[in-house]
Amino acid sequence: MSLENMKSYHSSLQQALDDEFLRKTLDKFAVQFKANRQTIFADVNEKELIAEIAEAKDESLDHLDELYEQFCQHAAKKGIIVHRAATAKDACDLVCQIANENKVKTVIKSKSMTAEEIHINHALEKNGQEVCETDLGEWIIQLRHEGPSHMVMPAIHLSRYQVADTFTDETNEKQDSDISLLVKVARRQLRSKFAEADMGISGANFAVAENGTIAICTNEGNGRLTTTLPRVHVAICGIDKLVPSLHDALRVIKVLPRNATAQAITTYVSWITGAVDCQADVPERRKIFHIVFLDNGRSQIVKDRKCRESLRCVRCGACANVCPVYRLVGGHQMGYVYIGAIGLILTYFFHGHDRARVLAENCIGCEACKDVCAAGIDLPAIIQEIRARLNEEFGSPMVPALMGRVLASRKLFHTLLKFAKFAQKPVQSGQYIRHLPDIFIHGQGFRALPAIADKAFRDIWPAIKPQEKPGGVKVGLFAGCAQDFLYPGHLTAAVKVLSKLGADIKFPDDQSCCGLPVQMMGQRKYAMETAKANVLAFKNAGVDHIVTLCGSCASHMKNRYPDILADQNMDDDVKAFSDKIIDFSSFLVDVLKVKPEAFKNGGEKVGYHYPCHLVRGLSVVQEPKVLLKAAGDYQQSPEEDVCCGFGGTYSLKFPEISATLLENKLNNVEATGATYLVTDCPGCYMQLNGGEQKRGGKLKVEHMAEFLARHMID
Ligand code: SF4
Ligand code: SF4
Repeated sequence: MSLENMKSYHSSLQQALDDEFLRKTLDKFAVQFKANRQTIFADVNEKELIAEIAEAKDESLDHLDELYEQFCQHAAKKGIIVHRAATAKDACDLVCQIANENKVKTVIKSKSMTAEEIHINHALEKNGQEVCETDLGEWIIQLRHEGPSHMVMPAIHLSRYQVADTFTDETNEKQDSDISLLVKVARRQLRSKFAEADMGISGANFAVAENGTIAICTNEGNGRLTTTLPRVHVAICGIDKLVPSLHDALRVIKVLPRNATAQAITTYVSWITGAVDCQADVPERRKIFHIVFLDNGRSQIVKDRKCRESLRCVRCGACANVCPVYRLVGGHQMGYVYIGAIGLILTYFFHGHDRARVLAENCIGCEACKDVCAAGIDLPAIIQEIRARLNEEFGSPMVPALMGRVLASRKLFHTLLKFAKFAQKPVQSGQYIRHLPDIFIHGQGFRALPAIADKAFRDIWPAIKPQEKPGGVKVGLFAGCAQDFLYPGHLTAAVKVLSKLGADIKFPDDQSCCGLPVQMMGQRKYAMETAKANVLAFKNAGVDHIVTLCGSCASHMKNRYPDILADQNMDDDVKAFSDKIIDFSSFLVDVLKVKPEAFKNGGEKVGYHYPCHLVRGLSVVQEPKVLLKAAGDYQQSPEEDVCCGFGGTYSLKFPEISATLLENKLNNVEATGATYLVTDCPGCYMQLNGGEQKRGGKLKVEHMAEFLARHMID
């Protein structure tokens, strides 16, 4: 696949979406993985362990040079020859040199992402050696001349029939597609390779500084054969795999297999300390053992404040397993060598900025990866940072740059929207834009698009503003651009509910868009300007809480503003602002302590869609359900917390993926028999309501505020 331009990328995405086997396999895997992961983590404190790993990895990254020196001292005593390669080419040259010095003709390899990163097979083959992968999945894709589509399961994209065809070609014998028979074929073919190889190449999950040991976690046993049978062993290991002690390695082992394959431990954990005795014809009958530590830019990433967390990665692959985009299109469209969220990041650092340009766009920002990362990496934030850097390096595409400028200027934004309100009349039909020719909607035909409201909320507010309630909880209402101008009804419903529950509501007029859309587009400057405007707008509002009806606005303002405004000398104001941010459902349940008696419950069957940034960005889980159970007959649907496919401008850039996620979501809710679908985000509302309108379904989509306002006891 050419990653050079968006057009060819879109056509590859469509091909992947049309691959029924791939879709079914990844769907099944994603559902099973989630359930199995939950079960396998039941006996350990997942969050605590991950936080400990993150802290320990950060500490190691601060001392990589010392750890390397310490490792070298211990390794040298045990007969290991240690090298440090600055670049991928240096590492390949070193391994080729070792092969030449030892008259190596044949090489076997166990699975190693670091070896993939430097394309060692290609280098050795060019150098005259024959290389054979021995991990089953890696061997299959080697025979097919393909790259891995997953970091842990490299051939997950292939059916057993495709594998049988590949093995038929390799063996010149018709092979059955029965999996156990295929495994036997692989075993038979690979056995002679193990016995005859001159050199074995492995990776390393850990390099333990305190004793010069490396460790490899595998499930197939090929790792052990690769590192023990040939007379020469070369381990290729990123310098980020250095850990101070065995204790640190063991702690990671508690999480790594659980997160990778939902196993408590891999079948094999091999600890290799020093060059061991060997029967081959080598000096002193000792195995020749080299370790090549690869830098390849890692020392620079350590100094990169915004991206260094990416070096905590332990390569479990879970960030792909839970990614809704990976699940639809697979790893060949979601990375280069490294796959999934970390793949989007490491492609930028290891395989070229140009190659990363298209990939970095294909993240919907749902935070599912961050939620499960074994090393607690804020992957979506780093992907956004990379987008911003790519924009700075290559220049912003025109549309995001213009949108950034407009959203950052409240006055310009509002003036343009007022103009657009009149301009839309010829294509407007009630609350929707219905008559736009295809050329203007660029693949958006899968959902009805909303019309700009006749009156923005900020223009409605003076007329509906409730009387001051001196004793009430003082709350500032944050409107956000979508609800202010597209869905003012959500906000008027919220005013009704909050006022009925005794809150004293303020609406500071200088507030603007939260800035998340421009942040997602990598428009760093405009993201900062909108953030600053909002902090100042609420600074003197005299409120104790700032309520938003949008999980994304809330998460962005609470979690991201401190970083976005870090250089603006306004830390105290930013903290005061962020601390007050709360979502609508949590405010009702946790602050106002609303009781079921506040609602008339007519038993309407109602489903819920968790906005990504509400459930993962703010960890809000129970509150929406409490409210729905109080006012209706809540129906739980499968995968309530999986992204609906909106993702702001993502749905404009990747409509083919957005539409598929939306279809899955609506199918899941409709299957429960619910008549209403409620959510807590105007973006999700736009997606769900627009999709349901377009497909003529019976579900009525409402914002939580609307649903509750309809059920408030007057
Ligand atoms: S934020 Fe969501 S879409 Fe983006 S890489 Fe992570 S899981 Fe995938
Ligand atoms: S980024 Fe996190 S989840 Fe992804 S492979 Fe690395 S450790 Fe695993």
